[in-house]
Amino acid sequence: MSLLSPDTPQLRRGDIIELEIEKAAFEGRCVARSGGLVIFVDGAVPGDRVRAFIHKKKKQFAEARVEELLVPSPHRVLPRCRHFGVCGGCKWQHMAYAQQLRWKREHVLDAFIRIGGLEDVRVNETLPAEEPFWYRNKMEFSFGEMRWLLPDELGTVDREAELFALGLHVPKRYDRILHIDECHLESPESNAILNATRDFFLARSIPAYSTRTHEGDLRHLVIREGKHTGERMVFLVSTQHREDVMRDYARMLQRPELGVSTFVHGITTRKSTVAIADEEIVYIGDGTIREQLGRNVFRISPSSFFQTNTLQAERLYGLAEQAAALTPDDVVWDLYCGTGTIALFIARDVRHVVGVELNAAAIEDARRNAQDNGIENTTFITADIVDFIGKRQEFDVPSPDVIITDPPRAGMHPKVVEAVGRSGVERLVYVSCNPSTSARDCGMLREYGYVVEDITPVDMFPHTWHIECVISLRKTGEE
Ligand code: SAH
Repeated sequence: MSLLSPDTPQLRRGDIIELEIEKAAFEGRCVARSGGLVIFVDGAVPGDRVRAFIHKKKKQFAEARVEELLVPSPHRVLPRCRHFGVCGGCKWQHMAYAQQLRWKREHVLDAFIRIGGLEDVRVNETLPAEEPFWYRNKMEFSFGEMRWLLPDELGTVDREAELFALGLHVPKRYDRILHIDECHLESPESNAILNATRDFFLARSIPAYSTRTHEGDLRHLVIREGKHTGERMVFLVSTQHREDVMRDYARMLQRPELGVSTFVHGITTRKSTVAIADEEIVYIGDGTIREQLGRNVFRISPSSFFQTNTLQAERLYGLAEQAAALTPDDVVWDLYCGTGTIALFIARDVRHVVGVELNAAAIEDARRNAQDNGIENTTFITADIVDFIGKRQEFDVPSPDVIITDPPRAGMHPKVVEAVGRSGVERLVYVSCNPSTSARDCGMLREYGYVVEDITPVDMFPHTWHIECVISLRKTGEE
């Protein structure tokens, strides 16, 4: 190992080098440069001066981790969470919130220029979250029989507690669970449920399920809460039905300070690592909670998809609505509509909304949500958007005046981009959870005469590098 000067050309794996961190890039990694080589540095903040260890060296780039912080960036803040750095949840908690917003905007701008080829695009300031902590309405924790101990916990935890953890997965260590007693992304009541649950099962020596041997019982604890309604759901997934234990657990959950409105016990013996159950038994309440989004109330069951940041989702949809410049005569298509949240958000302001989505269960939820909210001017269709767009005549739906599209991370299929491009609608709104793919799609839409008017990044997930955008496009004469 040798200490190199920053412009040493022949950087090698194992070298230690001094670096000035320039910016924060995709996936939250920081970027520094040395002799023209890009170096991704984990655990840094733009503005830091660090001594870094090169652990990967490729032709085009290298990867490093911070060995020593020489001069801290003025944008560093003390992370609020004691699990920061080990838990993979909040990679940016050590960066001032204003800087997080800044780098998210830069990331969007960069994607649209570099990938979309849209040089003169206008990207507004990132819309911040009013409450950058406690914003999630859902947290999913796992039980594990191999607890990951922090350095200060080594030797302090007894054997039984070591074999039982309830918390979050350690990144890249899927068999290891980090014991979490306070997660700052969820409410204090949800943290109280988390800790009471751990104490309850540990005291009864009920074993955690092992993802290695597939033995054991307890698998997941999902806590959901309606941020507007205050209703709270506990969904506990295990492999066995231990009725007596669950009755006791339900009794414990009725402690007033936990504020539990419904408790569902889910049972599954599948090997999958997601919190889905084959059988569900409701012990408290009716198995659902309600959440309000805009003017509508949604019923959420343990398996329903729902935006995880209620308050920012409302602002995201509000921006989408503004960008669509809706009039009472408009027919709107809501592509990739999920459970219909956008369609129902705007339905009262337009003539008709057609929502299209691949997942049949989501469409069932969308129809029920429309009915529950007394909305009658929506049509929900289960279809792959590629088929819907390709065989439009076969679906008896009115032509759109406006299209709103909210695809998954992969963006839109090229055939969908082409069909939207040829649709002739004047107003097009693209809601995106991935700037790289929306930039690519908007670059293609330019060829059909759609210009990006402006883009507003919306911070749905403070302390992570994820960013949503509302992209407003208009049809011009030129193709
Ligand atoms: N607009 C919704 C959900 C957006 S998430 C909301 O705001 O809540 C993207 C949705 O696209 C998911 O529900 C997913 O099931 C759906 N989807 C993914 N690929 C699809 C395809 N090829 N055709 C139709 N829907 C698709």
